[in-house]
Amino acid sequence: MRHAALLFNPRAGRRRGAHALEQVTAQLARGFRLEVLPTRGPEHCRELALRAVAERLDAVFALGGDGTLRVVAGALAGSQTALGPLPGGTTNVLAGAFGLPVGDPAAAARALAHAEAREMDVGRCGDDVFLMQVSGGLDARVMAEVDPRWKRRVGKLAVAAAGLAAWARYEFPLFELEVDGAPTVATGFVVTNLAEYAGAYRIVPQARADDRQLELLLFRGRRRRDALAFALALARGRHLARADVELRAVERVTLIGPGAAQLQADGDPFVADPPLEIRLSSRRLRVLAPAS
Ligand SMILES: [Mg+2]
Repeated sequence: MRHAALLFNPRAGRRRGAHALEQVTAQLARGFRLEVLPTRGPEHCRELALRAVAERLDAVFALGGDGTLRVVAGALAGSQTALGPLPGGTTNVLAGAFGLPVGDPAAAARALAHAEAREMDVGRCGDDVFLMQVSGGLDARVMAEVDPRWKRRVGKLAVAAAGLAAWARYEFPLFELEVDGAPTVATGFVVTNLAEYAGAYRIVPQARADDRQLELLLFRGRRRRDALAFALALARGRHLARADVELRAVERVTLIGPGAAQLQADGDPFVADPPLEIRLSSRRLRVLAPAS
């Protein structure tokens, strides 16, 4: 029988994850000898994942949101230990992208109990990794303004409220970028490894997580109504036809200026000091996923 660890954060995702723990454990036990390990925070989560790699476990299941998966992926990338994504956070975009039922961690666990691992690309952003997107612009500002306590209580509603507040004040600062060596500017950019973005949206429909390339979406709108129109077009899958949107396949995007910038990686906000290099990692990640 395969051997795995199950990491869970008792405080993540409005506690839905912790409530589901018993059912998740029962499902995974059908295919794995399992160690169940509560985490005290991101650093502890990373330590436990690194220990699982050192012990050559077959898999580390993470019951949490996209932020938790990113932490665990940073420890597992380049190893033979596979990530088992179990949707237990507020946003579970990665689990959804792999065909798992995002509202039901126990059903996801049942689907993964006998699943095989496949390889996916991993992005690098400075010294950190990402699995989905790194972006700058209004979306990153929104993620920076979401109140984490409120997010735990009301989930996506907190993100929507922060979105409206940020939009009403946003002034569309320019990012200076170097895209595979060529300079350009934009008011928003998304470097993506996946088609799926922010839940139900497909930011770059043709993006694949296993094709050894990243896609870059540049947005050059400068007014609030451009941003609103972009969001509405995105919801309808028509944003790529806009005149203020440009799409490129890229190897490397470097934020070169003009100063410190609010960005987000897989939903986690951070402030970047240029230069910041965003590119494909040479390490890949094994991920357990149901056969598609
Ligand atoms: Mg790709």
